[in-house]
Amino acid sequence: ADWAAAVDAVRQVPADGRVLLICHVNPDGDALGSMLGFGLGLRRLGVRRLQATFPGPPEVPEPFHGLPGLDLLVPATEAYPDPDLVVCFDAASASRLGDLVDRLDTAGTALVLDHHASNTRFGGIHLVDPAAAATSVVVEGLLDRLGVPLDAGIAECLYVALTTDTGSFRFEATTPAVHEMAARLLATGIRPGDISRRVFDHRPFGAVRLFGEVLGRARLEPPAAGGRGLVWTYATLDDLARHGQRPYVLEALIDSVRCTAEADVSCVVKQVAAEEWAVSLRSKGAVDVSRVAVALGGGGHRFAAGFTGRGTADEVVERIRGQLDDAVIGGGDQQEQRRVSVFPR
Ligand code: 5GP
Ligand code: MN
Ligand code: MN
Repeated sequence: ADWAAAVDAVRQVPADGRVLLICHVNPDGDALGSMLGFGLGLRRLGVRRLQATFPGPPEVPEPFHGLPGLDLLVPATEAYPDPDLVVCFDAASASRLGDLVDRLDTAGTALVLDHHASNTRFGGIHLVDPAAAATSVVVEGLLDRLGVPLDAGIAECLYVALTTDTGSFRFEATTPAVHEMAARLLATGIRPGDISRRVFDHRPFGAVRLFGEVLGRARLEPPAAGGRGLVWTYATLDDLARHGQRPYVLEALIDSVRCTAEADVSCVVKQVAAEEWAVSLRSKGAVDVSRVAVALGGGGHRFAAGFTGRGTADEVVERIRGQLDDAVIGGGDQQEQRRVSVFPR
């Protein structure tokens, strides 16, 4: 990682310079938390002309309404057209930036902070660490090198980002370093119980009922010879309308679907327009779902990936099925995972 160049890029912003922070479309906890946490850090450094934004409708999902630094957000249409510095968070490719992609060219300097192995190295200066559990790990490293101490506001943003991308410290990326970072964040006095309840364990009753309906139509396709067990479901715009829910409530759905014991791979197909679907893919380890997603025009991580699919939901799922065998990781230990014993070891 090019830490020195990144530190210089921030230090060289003139006193009245404009800094624009951007993150990927449909921002999740890592995208928003990393961006706003870094924004609060820049504010502490004295950067005054500072905006944060993301492509698409200027709507922050309710789970993130408590994030410190939300006052930095402006609608994408009002974002500085030619900032002195643009900093991009949690986006693996320029295509994830929607209409904001032009800022990579119009900005004096474009700094990219990310942790996707598939990062295309767009922009000018790259802090891309595929070993990092979240982009917020990279953000903490840069703030430290800029001499910005953690305060509770910054820490809460980075904590939301870290817990979102590690599944609250459950996923494989949860290294000792992740827990050490969490300890530094918690030492600022932030309240993990309150934060988790707001971000993860809080949804309108209408969304609970919507989940019931969508989970009720899940399909389990057991592993055929050489194949992979797949569990999937879909949600339409009509489902959302009938239950009076916003699209982002569906982001949590994959976490229920992926629990299915009989499936290696799980999938939720979420309608975003007449023939357009946002697809979430998860794997328990036997399949590299980022390969499936990349083959179908998207991206992500080995065990969590996504893409935009066109056509009907059935057509989208059929295309996923067609990619599963090519995405199986290595040999050998998969058999181990398949073995089922009634006796706990
Ligand atoms: P989620 O299923 O939570 O929306 O996304 C899981 C992972 O897949 C994220 O790390 C995200 O970077 C990636 N991802 C999701 N949707 C897309 C997409 O449409 N394009 C790309 N390139 N990556 C995606
Ligand atoms: Mn993300
Ligand atoms: Mn991330």
